[in-house]
Amino acid sequence: MAALVVLAYRMRIALFGSPGVGKGTQASLLEKRRGLKSISTGNILRAVVDSGSALGEKVRAYMEDGRLVSGPVVRKLAEEAIAAQGYDQFILDGYPRTEEQADWLTAFLGAHGAPLHAVIYLRVPTEVIVNRLSRRRVHRETGENYHLDFKLPPPDLDPGLFIQRPDDRPEAIRLRLDIYSQETRPVEQYYRQRGLLFDVDGVGGFEEVYGRIDAVLKKAALAVS
Ligand code: AMP
Repeated sequence: MAALVVLAYRMRIALFGSPGVGKGTQASLLEKRRGLKSISTGNILRAVVDSGSALGEKVRAYMEDGRLVSGPVVRKLAEEAIAAQGYDQFILDGYPRTEEQADWLTAFLGAHGAPLHAVIYLRVPTEVIVNRLSRRRVHRETGENYHLDFKLPPPDLDPGLFIQRPDDRPEAIRLRLDIYSQETRPVEQYYRQRGLLFDVDGVGGFEEVYGRIDAVLKKAALAVS
């Protein structure tokens, strides 16, 4: 599907925040409208699981429970995906998720003279997050996210195409939110201390939230170009 990108941003960005804040939805809008290639470690890992390889079987168990996949596996996949984009313009969705990953990313991008320009921190209260995750459905082929109240799957398509992710079950959601507060949350301070973090209110419709992110990035993009 060709999209008309009116103003493309040549930037390297990471979207940060708890599971369910809308990182995937916003990354896909930024890809369509601003030409930023989205790199989702979650989507890459789901493709590894679907490949049926031995590695995929190991990864599946972690993902279905809602645990983090081990660092070296994700690092290698992230490295390949970023290299494939040519280091110029991309948006990371779901990476980094630990301080160790953030440290590695800083060193890796630094070695290629391609540091991040901005980290967008999408902030959403926990009760809203639980609702979003439990009512989320995903198109099994495109990976596009939908919501049973706010972004309904297109009525002309087969409802069987829209599935609930195994890690969107209530017990997996609880574990993912715990892991987020213990392991991922420190990444906020990591980027704040480096002056790269931009706080964005993630409550509201996806167009409203997109408008807020775009306003932040537009300013930053003018500073970059
Ligand atoms: P997401 O689609 O971003 O919610 O990611 C889904 C799942 O993929 C997570 O719950 C983890 O199991 C795994 N995953 C994604 N990104 C990472 C990462 N950076 N480090 C470790 N595991 C990850």
